[in-house]
Amino acid sequence: MHEINYQPVLAEPNLIDYDSYYQSFTWDNEFQNLDSLPEGRGLNIAHEAVDRHATGLLKNHVAIRWVRKDRSVKDITFQDLYTHSNQFANVLTLLGVTKGDTVFTLLGRIPELYVAAFGALKKTAVFCPLFSVFGPEPVYQRLSRGDAKILVTTLDLYERKITPILNRLPKLQYVLLTDVQTDINNTVLSLPLLMDKTSTSFIIPPTKSDDAALLHFTSGTTGMPKGALHIHHAVLTHQVTGKLVLDLHPDDMYWCTADPGWVTGTSYGIIAPLVNGVTSIVDEEEFDAARWYSILEEHKITVWYTAPTAIRRLMRMNIQPTKQYNLEHLRLILSVGEPLHADAVRWVQKTFEVPVLDNWWQTETGGIMISNYRNMPVRPGSMGKPLPGVEAGIAEITEDKFRIITKTGKEGHLVLKCGWPSMFKAYLNEKERYKKCFHGKWYITGDLASRDKDGYFWFVGRADDIIKTSGHMVGPFEVESCLMQHDAVAEAAVIGKPNATIGEMVKAFIVLKSGNKPDENLKLDIIAHARKKLGPAVAPKELAFIESLPKTRSGKILRRLLKARELGLPEGDLSTLESS
Ligand code: AMP
Repeated sequence: MHEINYQPVLAEPNLIDYDSYYQSFTWDNEFQNLDSLPEGRGLNIAHEAVDRHATGLLKNHVAIRWVRKDRSVKDITFQDLYTHSNQFANVLTLLGVTKGDTVFTLLGRIPELYVAAFGALKKTAVFCPLFSVFGPEPVYQRLSRGDAKILVTTLDLYERKITPILNRLPKLQYVLLTDVQTDINNTVLSLPLLMDKTSTSFIIPPTKSDDAALLHFTSGTTGMPKGALHIHHAVLTHQVTGKLVLDLHPDDMYWCTADPGWVTGTSYGIIAPLVNGVTSIVDEEEFDAARWYSILEEHKITVWYTAPTAIRRLMRMNIQPTKQYNLEHLRLILSVGEPLHADAVRWVQKTFEVPVLDNWWQTETGGIMISNYRNMPVRPGSMGKPLPGVEAGIAEITEDKFRIITKTGKEGHLVLKCGWPSMFKAYLNEKERYKKCFHGKWYITGDLASRDKDGYFWFVGRADDIIKTSGHMVGPFEVESCLMQHDAVAEAAVIGKPNATIGEMVKAFIVLKSGNKPDENLKLDIIAHARKKLGPAVAPKELAFIESLPKTRSGKILRRLLKARELGLPEGDLSTLESS
């Protein structure tokens, strides 16, 4: 087995000896590194990430360095974030928000997003950031399922994405616009105007560790997106993984490229760096290779958390980063969201001359669960080993059997022993679905993996039909439901088709209603319909017309068969196929 042994550079790694740390680790011990609210009022993420620094030595330290689209910069100190989030919490009080109400944002990566996040957490509301690239339909699904009471957005996004769905959202009480100076009407209000009216002081009310804090939607194979609810206690995982995996040190300049609309962008783009008192770069713009390299150089990034899609894009470009840019400050690169294949690991290591550490986790786990570590030999292509405090296993699961496989090298379901702090508390309003994720003390992740004899985990694939495109989960049902709304479509099925850059591409198979001609114009029209409703990140990029969809006798679409046929792979067990 070829291993890469990275030599420690610059700062000494926080995790020196994985095995001994893993053996002696307890969450209770790590809890001592958190502060907790004064006077025994409990544990609140916003206090840990912002207030304790703002009222302590890091008061004037930059919490967020915001890089605008035009590359100009705004530095926001812990003190700034403290006062602004206090004001936002007071705005929520003014609007009648109470504990457990949901506050949504539909924003690009602008400071108001971060202010709203911490203001909502301070108010003990539940914060849910939505990806601003979503079309009106995914936005509607999430706002309505999450019982959104308040939405913070911009005028442009409001006009394009909210007005078409507003009358279907009776529970939405206020829309707060970040970029208008006067109210539009009684319920669509100017956020700056409201902020001006409020005090910069706010006392966080008592917060229990298991009070709901964050809501993230994730896709399922059946049904619409599920809302995974996280609690304030999750901050302990963020603190620990920031220290042990991201290897954060006080003077780091840290950059997580994920949007907060996805869980990585919240757990590691907002909370983990700030809990660890480290400056976090927020870039308003989307991926652009030259821009990204310039940001790494100009802002002297030391720790960079990104995704395989971005790495694959960079691999394809004719840029020699370390020759064309001064990246001498870069100490560590991390990757999550999809498999980081061995060739990508080697490319990054050779190109940047720093370690790249793949790690695994998902919306439900709230934080990194399996990872490579700076001071542990990397086996390219492996996700690494469980975080100290986390027990991972491989299980054989059938309808009537659950068995942990102790033999190494065998593929099975990746399962985690419950008990880590950031484990999701519920799927919103879906008790049965939540219960099905567990067997006794084990949480079933929905992924297939194997473990080698030295304890490294290797990703095999998803156990279901969920598509990972550009690192984002897309549930086939959501896309199919939208396609079916097109007048010409009788039935639809979508699959993830492997793609060298974006991991998987959403491909749709369409059965037309009789009387419709399966031509190029209709194809484009259906794709345009999906892009308008779902947004380009979710809509299919390829579409094919077929006579009928393969289904089981009980009527379920056999997406895996469509996929096997598309890729010329063995069709597997067809005993349940309707017409077989
Ligand atoms: P999400 O809930 O959107 O964060 O997606 C989580 C899913 O992404 C996991 O269940 C895996 O299927 C996939 N995933 C995340 N990280 C990795 C990784 N390092 N290697 C392979 N797959 C990953």
